[in-house]
Amino acid sequence: MNVMEKLKSINAEKRIADFMVKQKQPYEFKKSYAYKRAYEFIDECEKRDLNYHVSVGGLDSIALYIFLQSIGIKIPGISVSYLEDKSIRAVHKQLGIISLKPLKKENGKPWRKVDVIEKFGFPVLSKEIASKIETLQNPTPDNATVRHAIITGETGDYGGNRTGSKMKLAQRWLELFGGSENENEGVCYQCAKFKVSAKCCYYLKEKPCDDWAKENNSVPFLGLMASEGGRRAKTLMINGCNYFGKSKIRSAPFAIFNRQDLLQLVLELNVPVPEIYGTIQKKTDGTLYTTKAQRTGCDMCGFGIQLEKRPHRFDRLRESNPNAWNFWMYRMGWGEVLDYIGVEWRPEKYKQVSLFEMEGAI
Ligand code: SF4
Repeated sequence: MNVMEKLKSINAEKRIADFMVKQKQPYEFKKSYAYKRAYEFIDECEKRDLNYHVSVGGLDSIALYIFLQSIGIKIPGISVSYLEDKSIRAVHKQLGIISLKPLKKENGKPWRKVDVIEKFGFPVLSKEIASKIETLQNPTPDNATVRHAIITGETGDYGGNRTGSKMKLAQRWLELFGGSENENEGVCYQCAKFKVSAKCCYYLKEKPCDDWAKENNSVPFLGLMASEGGRRAKTLMINGCNYFGKSKIRSAPFAIFNRQDLLQLVLELNVPVPEIYGTIQKKTDGTLYTTKAQRTGCDMCGFGIQLEKRPHRFDRLRESNPNAWNFWMYRMGWGEVLDYIGVEWRPEKYKQVSLFEMEGAI
């Protein structure tokens, strides 16, 4: 069965349409929906003799942890806290979140960000784009069909023989990263001098959590929201809040929430907001927003960097930790990566832009 047939057999289109109807419901509906799904999940886990926990990172999952507690589901929260901003770590500590140790390499030493970048490549653009570039940079006979789809959008038999599919990498990135397929595809793209990879999160975050879950016979509640987009959004829409698959079991009670719902819940439950987000304020039209970071991740993560305005996360890192900034930009090569994808990062340029903007504003 190819991908299209599989999607048809599970009625994916209808599932997505139903999910989108729920996303448009008012806040109170979504909150009680989350309540019901969370209890359904633990009922099913009890039947299967499984424990359950919350995987905690930034504000979304901190809010989930507190929400579950508020409805009587008092369970452990786990996190690879050392990767998070120090204000997030402080909140984790305050809440008693279990801090997981990093994964060990074969030589017994822990995987650090530098190791992952050196071995696999830079986490840049987005998980989905990085994973496609990684495939192009690591050609094997087995991934030939996928590489062809990434360059052309033609999916072959397994992908239902579609043309113009979303598998095609955006032209902008093909121009910069598609060069390894020039001969095969008769195209004329460039090759980057550095490696790109989507494996960083897996080694630094996902695997330690998966290992803990296995050791504790436990399955996770996750703070995912389909409205945040990314490659997991569609799967979330198709599989819904609770998913009991062969190799994956998880609950995402906030799946139908949007940012506004989340922030409203944070205010309602008095969730501690880590300093990195600032405070939650209301615009004149009633829209809630956080005064500092909207989303967080590791300070040197390149996912989404091309979408940020200055001062972007690397600028903020320079202000908060100039030594770390110097290390990442010059010694680890982030500066070269950002230059290549056309993201400004040099402080001089930033100052020029700021002055220019200020003059324009006067
Ligand atoms: S958020 Fe970015 S830097 Fe952090 S583990 Fe994931 S990919 Fe790596």
